[in-house]
Amino acid sequence: MSLLYEGKAKRIFTTDQDDVLRVEYKDEVTAGNGAKKDHLEGKGRLNNLITSKIFQYLKDQGLESHFIEQLSDTEQLVKKVEIIPLEVVVRNIAAGSITKRLGFDKGHEFEQPLVEFFYKNDDLNDPLITDDHVKLLNLANDDEIATLKEAALGINQHLKELMAKMDLRIVDYKIEFGRTEDGQIILADEISPDTCRIWALDSDENFDKDVYREDRGSILDVYQAFLTKLEDVE
Ligand code: ADP
Ligand code: UDP
Repeated sequence: MSLLYEGKAKRIFTTDQDDVLRVEYKDEVTAGNGAKKDHLEGKGRLNNLITSKIFQYLKDQGLESHFIEQLSDTEQLVKKVEIIPLEVVVRNIAAGSITKRLGFDKGHEFEQPLVEFFYKNDDLNDPLITDDHVKLLNLANDDEIATLKEAALGINQHLKELMAKMDLRIVDYKIEFGRTEDGQIILADEISPDTCRIWALDSDENFDKDVYREDRGSILDVYQAFLTKLEDVE
């Protein structure tokens, strides 16, 4: 089957079904829009296993997404969608760009979860945009913006519960949504330590790509430790 798209972390292939795609997770890790880049044997397997387990968990909670099934260590089948070019970022605790942009101390707990939209456009460096920008760029209308925010907050509730079972805190993360053929908006792409910040409940240990961004050790060890905790969830 033919390669439809190759990104920084995944390859997307067509299948013999028009509305189904095969996703292959690559052994590449990047940060800063590709400014820092490495090949790490086994990283694709870890992200595929983790994101498959998280999407399956959400499905078990009644939350539909593009995820159909895990095919192999590095591959999964997903429903084909038209991705809405928005990085929907949900924050429970301040870290990363919001500490620089708005001066929140790292670790500050928000009174309520915050949803932000970033325009998914590498040439523009994925800028933060307002709801009005989303409309002017024709990315989504008012109703769809409300749907995206509501879905993001619903997913957040499930992720918070899941992480609490693992003695972890979900600090922030990025999700993507897409439109199916019949216009339904569903969760797509991935949820993994590449796209989330995950902290231990009682220590400053973390289980995410910050370890790579900040040269603080092996992400293979960290992602494996996260997967082991995820596999232990009842
Ligand atoms: P990037 O494009 O940021 O380098 P990836 O390497 O993760 O990212 O590439 C995967 C691409 O596939 C992303 O652009 C993502 O939006 C897209 N994608 C994810 N899920 C689906 C889906 N179900 N249908 C179509 N495209 C998808
Ligand atoms: N994120 C992501 N892809 C991106 C940008 C951000 O997965 O292209 C995730 C990131 O891992 C973090 C959250 O979104 O969990 C918020 O990221 P932030 O805006 O703080 O950006 P950063 O400074 O980390 O690049």
